[in-house]
Amino acid sequence: MRSRIVTEASVIIGGGVAGATAALALSRAGRRVDLYERSSSANHKICGEFMSREVSANLRSLGVDPVDLGARPINRVRLVRGNRSVDQPLPFPALALSRKILDEALLEHATSCGVNVIRGKTARVIEQSDDGGFEVSFGPGDSTSARAIFLASGKHDLRGVKRASPGRQSDYLALKMYYRFNRKKTEHLRSVVELILLKECYLGLMLVEDDCVNFCPVLSQDRFIKAGGTWQGVLQQFSSESDYVAAYLEGAEPLLDRPLAISRVPYGFVHNPSSEDPPGLWRLGDQIAVIPSFTGDGMGMASCSAVLAANMFLEGGTSHEFHRRFSSIVRKQMRVSKPLNSVFFRHSVGQNALIWLASQFPSGVRAIARATRVPEAAMPRID
Ligand SMILES: Cc1cc2nc3c(=O)[nH]c(=O)nc-3n(C[C@H](O)[C@H](O)[C@H](O)COP(=O)(O)OP(=O)(O)OC[C@H]3O[C@@H](n4cnc5c(N)ncnc54)[C@H](O)[C@@H]3O)c2cc1C
Repeated sequence: MRSRIVTEASVIIGGGVAGATAALALSRAGRRVDLYERSSSANHKICGEFMSREVSANLRSLGVDPVDLGARPINRVRLVRGNRSVDQPLPFPALALSRKILDEALLEHATSCGVNVIRGKTARVIEQSDDGGFEVSFGPGDSTSARAIFLASGKHDLRGVKRASPGRQSDYLALKMYYRFNRKKTEHLRSVVELILLKECYLGLMLVEDDCVNFCPVLSQDRFIKAGGTWQGVLQQFSSESDYVAAYLEGAEPLLDRPLAISRVPYGFVHNPSSEDPPGLWRLGDQIAVIPSFTGDGMGMASCSAVLAANMFLEGGTSHEFHRRFSSIVRKQMRVSKPLNSVFFRHSVGQNALIWLASQFPSGVRAIARATRVPEAAMPRID
């Protein structure tokens, strides 16, 4: 069926943490919002699912409490390499919840708050119209127009609104599987986010709701090829390299038919605001910055960008001002996390140094945890 909708509502493309948070913040202020999400039902996403305090605080202010959804508390970080491990308290309380549950709850809540959530529609092209507004096309004869677009579609570019420089694609591959471990191993992971350092790889483990284990390795393409390019090959490689990982995998029950995978993540990308950006197009979440995964702060950035954009939009600010402000907030975080990502998580000397430093200087681990997230003082408020 052909349809062309002309709307005065703000249009949000993408219903992940960034899009749903922006929708809730705008609708709270009485604005009409249309949110388009390409998935037609709840689905899993590649993510370590570590939720920093700032994200959960924002979610609570917007009416979604992750603890009510089954989120598990996380208050320690454990680094493991070979037969050495260091376990330290985190400098802030965190939570763990699957994105399938979280993102769906956010969209349901947005709907109940009056946001027009349209599922199963993929934006194909966005073009600026002669009057300065935007035309979003979903396919032949199916489009909508709006004066303001919040682009929260994740890491990849959308036709018509490509970024001048979308960031250098890394040669990392990220995979994710859920497992059920036995009671002893489950208790070993209780309240801990664990980072296991392997050759050209780090593996994040954490308990999410119902004590499912999020098992999320990030490895070099090279290593993946050497493992035969298969999940089974990767697991065999892990087990032969690490007795610690082998013990986890022994008897573990996989909870998905196959793992999720993503490659070429542009770690360290920060959108460089330029005068050629179409005014009125607000880039949120991974569209504006992609922090290395080990920090567990991608949702923090998504949440921060969404709230800041909504606040500035409501105060009459421009998208150019927002892009500049947000980029300046996260630059320091990126300056710290990018080199750590390549030195500590790639090279064995760096990994050994990290374990040694963490055991000798516990305050250093806490300082890294703090320096790799959006500073609390810069977190925009939800009124
Ligand atoms: C391996 C890995 C581990 C990570 N671990 C963590 C972690 O532990 N903690 C953390 O905070 N962050 C983590 N992150 C980062 C985090 O997942 C992202 O930063 C976060 O999901 C960004 O949110 P977003 O809303 O911008 O994008 P997304 O969550 O990607 O949401 C985008 C949404 O837009 C929809 N969409 C896409 N294109 C279209 C379209 N054309 N039309 C309509 N809808 C569309 C998608 O279906 C999706 O729902 C990790 C990332 C990786 C790769």
